[in-house]
Amino acid sequence: MKKQEILQNYFGHSSFRPLQEEVVDAIVAGEDVLMILPTGGGKSLCYQLPTLLMEGVTVVISPLLALMHDQVVALRANGIAAAMLSSMQDMEESREIEQQLRAGEIKLLYVAPERLKNSYFFNLLHELPLNFFVVDEAHCVSEWGHEFREDYRKLSLLKETFATTPIAAFTATATHAVEQDIASQLQLETPKRVRGSLFRENLMIGVQHRIKDGRAQLMSFLGAHEGESGIIYTLSRKSTEAIAGYLRSRGVEARAYHAGLPTEEKNSTFADFVADRVQIVVATIAFGMGIDKSNIRFVVHMTLPKTLENFYQEIGRAGRDGLEAETLLLFSAADIVQQKSFIDDLPESPYKAHAYNKLEQMVRFANSEACRHQAIASYFDDRIEACGTRCDNCSMPESSKIDITDAARKLLSAIYRTQQRFGLHYVIDVLRGSREQRILENGHDALSVYGIGETYSKAQWLTIGDRLLELGAVTIGEFKVYCLTPSGTEILKGSKKVDLKEERLSIRKTVKKKEDFSADYDTERFEKLRLLRTEMAQAQGVPPYIIFSDKTLKDMSVKLPQSKEAMLEVHGIGEVKYERYGEQFLVLLRELSI
Ligand code: ADP
Ligand code: ZN
Repeated sequence: MKKQEILQNYFGHSSFRPLQEEVVDAIVAGEDVLMILPTGGGKSLCYQLPTLLMEGVTVVISPLLALMHDQVVALRANGIAAAMLSSMQDMEESREIEQQLRAGEIKLLYVAPERLKNSYFFNLLHELPLNFFVVDEAHCVSEWGHEFREDYRKLSLLKETFATTPIAAFTATATHAVEQDIASQLQLETPKRVRGSLFRENLMIGVQHRIKDGRAQLMSFLGAHEGESGIIYTLSRKSTEAIAGYLRSRGVEARAYHAGLPTEEKNSTFADFVADRVQIVVATIAFGMGIDKSNIRFVVHMTLPKTLENFYQEIGRAGRDGLEAETLLLFSAADIVQQKSFIDDLPESPYKAHAYNKLEQMVRFANSEACRHQAIASYFDDRIEACGTRCDNCSMPESSKIDITDAARKLLSAIYRTQQRFGLHYVIDVLRGSREQRILENGHDALSVYGIGETYSKAQWLTIGDRLLELGAVTIGEFKVYCLTPSGTEILKGSKKVDLKEERLSIRKTVKKKEDFSADYDTERFEKLRLLRTEMAQAQGVPPYIIFSDKTLKDMSVKLPQSKEAMLEVHGIGEVKYERYGEQFLVLLRELSI
């Protein structure tokens, strides 16, 4: 049979897509190949088809069991002899597959990279008529990529052991540096390099500054995607559940997915999503790699991803069928601080600087007012025209900026006059003339800036604070204290202007529900907790509220958490706070609960 017939008969496509045929031909000619093509571009066909034109069996190395499984099922459904060897098969099945392999009854064998450590498997490979190897998700071999996998390092063994068997490597994302690294790690011999354009025309990309927790923005986005399938990415396990719960409370069916859930639940959520039984999954990035679902219509990021590679891979899961899909990234300056602190905690290594650099590029992308598609392409060393209509920046080119110099100066002045010793919320409360006790105790109601900022809502002030942070006019120090930079000082003195996209200030204000813990808390326990807080604050030389707010202590006095997990459910306690102060409070809480 000829290429064209196989394409039609086995795959049901009438013609090749751009670049596919080139790769098929190179593989059939016995060349090494390195193909970079965006998700949904049709990479699988590039190796699944040639093996049908050739003698022998193709070994496909792929990092994900679930993906392999789906591929094998799909191939078999098309009448192509495929199998996988992994921990999913029992002894008997494995033996059967081995027999079929020896009898030449299998054309495509999928394996995980760990397999290559197994000498039994290696010997088996030696006895088979291999036509070529496939390395899927090849960026995983590079430490300079974003998903380096230790097991992929072993893939250098392929050329060392099977010197005459060609290798075809595939990935959706690789900068030139990573591409180079893949070729050298896999020891490819002058491979045929095929690079598709990264431009995913069917993706409408949008980025917005997150207003508060972003839920109002999320709801309005989902309103335009009713009944459609999509993924919502968020950073922590806790927030996947919180957001899924919130959506359900608003009548939107959604499931949470994160690595901490029981395997059964994860598998069933995954399966239900793929089978369209559940439309929305709120997940940590543990979800979706290699997912073989072509009708994902939207992807939302509730927080900033750590690299553009991650971002591009994750939004790449939308619209693999080539139909209209939309992506939304919500981020705030606080995300940047958090991502930075993750990197701060990494052990010293050359990659640390690399990680900061990648984060910086991600931030620049998010803040950029240039074409999103163009910015992504250029990050991957690809040059394309501005999309014109397929991203938020292009479709609102005249997005009017407004001058916020006056407001910025008020905020900077308030930071300065409170001695650069407080967080943004506090400073804004001063500006807005709050009667909060802490402010009165500190005598900040006597400052000239007190109450001069009532024209803006708290949310709007937070946005203005974000803008100053982006512009490098302020920095966040320890305990989230805001400080002025030299550039901030210039603005304050009036020698520099500040502007901002108008829509950032005009987005519908979310009505803040006043959470009132004061009604039902345990005063006695609260006092004890407060005493501990005072002691700790004195010992550490910080104001008590830096440790935990009253609200937190009140909530704690009711919930009486006894474990880290329970502690993280308390108002205002995240991982970082827990790490710093959690244990000491747990000791007291255990006493209090007796
Ligand atoms: P990738 O692995 O690059 O992410 P896939 O191989 O999963 O992409 O292909 C994405 C989609 O494109 C699949 O639904 C596939 O059936 C379809 N496809 C691939 N090649 C062609 C073709 N030549 N014509 C039409 N559709 C194709
Ligand atoms: Zn654009």
